[in-house]
Amino acid sequence: MINNVLDKLSSSRPARKLAVVVLCTVFIAQLLTLLPLLYTRYHQNVNALIDQERSNLQRFVRYSDQDTLDNTQSLINSAMVGLLLTDTGGNPVITQGELPEFESLASAADQKSKNRRGSIDVLWFLESNRGRVLATARIDTSELSSKSLYFSLLTVLASLIISVIAGFVTLRGTNRAYIYPVANLTDSLRESRETSQGRVPETIEYTDTEDLNGLADEFNNLIEAQQRAARQVKVKQQYLEFAAHHDPLTHLPNRLMFEDKLKRTVADAVENNEPFVVFLVDLDNFKFFNDQYGHLVGDKMVAEIGNRLHTMMRDIDLVARLDGDEFVVIQKSIADRESAEEIARRVMNIATAPYEYRGFTLKAAVSVGISCFPNDVHTGHDEEMMGEEIVNNAAVALQEAKSNGKNQYQLFNEKMRSRLTARIRLETDLKVALQEGQFEVYYQPKVNINTRQVTGAEALVRWKHPTKGFISPEVFVPVAEEAGLIIELGEWILRTACKETRKLQQLGFSTLNIAVNISTVQFTDGNLLPMVSKALTDTKLPPEFLELEITESAVMHDPEEVINSLHELSRFGLGLAIDDFGTGYSSLAYLKRFPVHTLKIDRAFITDISSDNDDVAIVEAVLGLGKHFNMKVVAEGVEDEDQLEFLQSQGCDIAQGYFISKPMPVAMYLAWLRKWPQGVQGVDDPENVVSLHNAEQKKFGT
Ligand code: C2E
Ligand code: MG
Ligand code: MG
Repeated sequence: MINNVLDKLSSSRPARKLAVVVLCTVFIAQLLTLLPLLYTRYHQNVNALIDQERSNLQRFVRYSDQDTLDNTQSLINSAMVGLLLTDTGGNPVITQGELPEFESLASAADQKSKNRRGSIDVLWFLESNRGRVLATARIDTSELSSKSLYFSLLTVLASLIISVIAGFVTLRGTNRAYIYPVANLTDSLRESRETSQGRVPETIEYTDTEDLNGLADEFNNLIEAQQRAARQVKVKQQYLEFAAHHDPLTHLPNRLMFEDKLKRTVADAVENNEPFVVFLVDLDNFKFFNDQYGHLVGDKMVAEIGNRLHTMMRDIDLVARLDGDEFVVIQKSIADRESAEEIARRVMNIATAPYEYRGFTLKAAVSVGISCFPNDVHTGHDEEMMGEEIVNNAAVALQEAKSNGKNQYQLFNEKMRSRLTARIRLETDLKVALQEGQFEVYYQPKVNINTRQVTGAEALVRWKHPTKGFISPEVFVPVAEEAGLIIELGEWILRTACKETRKLQQLGFSTLNIAVNISTVQFTDGNLLPMVSKALTDTKLPPEFLELEITESAVMHDPEEVINSLHELSRFGLGLAIDDFGTGYSSLAYLKRFPVHTLKIDRAFITDISSDNDDVAIVEAVLGLGKHFNMKVVAEGVEDEDQLEFLQSQGCDIAQGYFISKPMPVAMYLAWLRKWPQGVQGVDDPENVVSLHNAEQKKFGT
């Protein structure tokens, strides 16, 4: 506090000045009042002393007889230090001590004269029994003088103390009433400037000093405005914070928050040895909902399921939305797998409860993948890896539930773990295969059903694993897609297919075209067109001989985006085909907007064409669509003459399948082309053509 005061002392010059003025004024005022009083009092005391000495002497003179009135008796005391008594005749009667001197005795009255040596000489006319006696005496006033001086000094000192106190009180008062409030205002202002968007200072309290309240008012208004602004900033920050961690559609925590929560849940679980369960909940056939009812309804559906999940779970659990139609739930303290299954059943029940929206009664179904901590993870791993593992395991279980027919739950188990391990191994082997060139492109010819002439082939990749032999693309392509390896692999396939087809064209099959499968990953990569264009330039294959096959499910994944990419590719002069048509819930509304030249009917519909009326209907419908939209229709998986004849009777353009040929390496393809009885469309005499290029054929090993 002292420091504070000193601080203020040094900082406030006006207050200091005022205090000094008060101090001096009070001091001088006291001196001016007290010193005259002391002076008067001193003179009164001196007079009183003289009077007392006179009356003592008078008494002595009056009551003494002639005999006693002599020098023998000492009349000198501490006050009267000299005495001369003379009778009326002027004769000295008593002479004692220092004798005072009077220059004249002109007056017959008492006289007094100040002496330089701190004493006063007096002349008294006294009455004695022998008549009038003249007494001259010297009265010592030095004791009175020193007493008086002493009191004067005390008075000055006391005045000084009182003045200092007055000055100090003035200083404090000024500080409290003026300096501190002003300093507070300044501090607050400074702080508000420094904290800017951050913490805003409190409004100040009103001062005792009326005239400062106006200033305080103005200042408080400023601060309140800033507080309001800061509150808005805070609300905005809270909103941004919320938006960063929540999904805008369902208002549930998003992936970011889920990952954070998962990390903490694993850490807690490890520390307290506490089990927990992760459920991955995915809507079944959500795409169908979107296509059938539109995206708005699809969104409402997702929001509704999210809300139901959130309501069902306890506060300590977490429900988050990971992706489009995928939710994740973390349930803490679930003791056993049975309880987890019970919860999964409840999740499925609440998800399937009908949902009314704008006259639609929607009924969703979900699949649930479940993974339990600590049973399903390697507990020796670090926490981050365990978190990743438990979610991956739940995803594997979910995948299992989906491939087992959806609308069910699956708990992660050992079988899945070994499949997962195998998958990881496959991924590793794929990387090696890419480096070591273990892949080969096979060609499966396509023929014009009416003329039976070859139009071209579909390029199908083959992987010859050094120990496991041939591995089906249906097994490794999805893994390559997930691992991102399909970009590199796909480019290699495309370049090889273009290069070898170009070679075949140069051998004389100048009209042969080639269809290359393009994975969704390549399609959404953003680099497809430059990659294709470079491959065509490098291999010199004209674009019109290349057809890209994109599966129907890939096309419908994000139709608007796909339409743009397809248009770009189409403008480039490439052919575009929708592969496996009929399996991917195509929206006909989109179909007419796709710049697609070919529909490939999935082989599942061709296989049972002679026995299954539904398949017949589907094939007829696809052919009808193709005609309507002016697209060629290719039937995949034609295995016998009956199928081919049926397709011909229905007006299908092109067939592909084991009945014509299995996929084969390029050398065999060349040999096959040469032998195919109906020849190659647009090529007059294949045998002739091929024989012209015997040297070239050797390159293919035939
Ligand atoms: P897809 O594009 O629909 O290819 C047709 C598949 O049907 C090929 O299987 C082919 O061998 C098979 N197939 C053709 N005719 C018949 C038949 O008469 N009967 C039977 N049962 N099957 C027939 P493959 O080569 O095993 O390829 C399977 C799938 O793997 C392909 O389906 C395609 O989606 C994918 N794939 C194959 N090669 C590539 C590739 O180079 N790139 C990409 N991205 N995917 C590829
Ligand atoms: Mg294909
Ligand atoms: Mg296909």
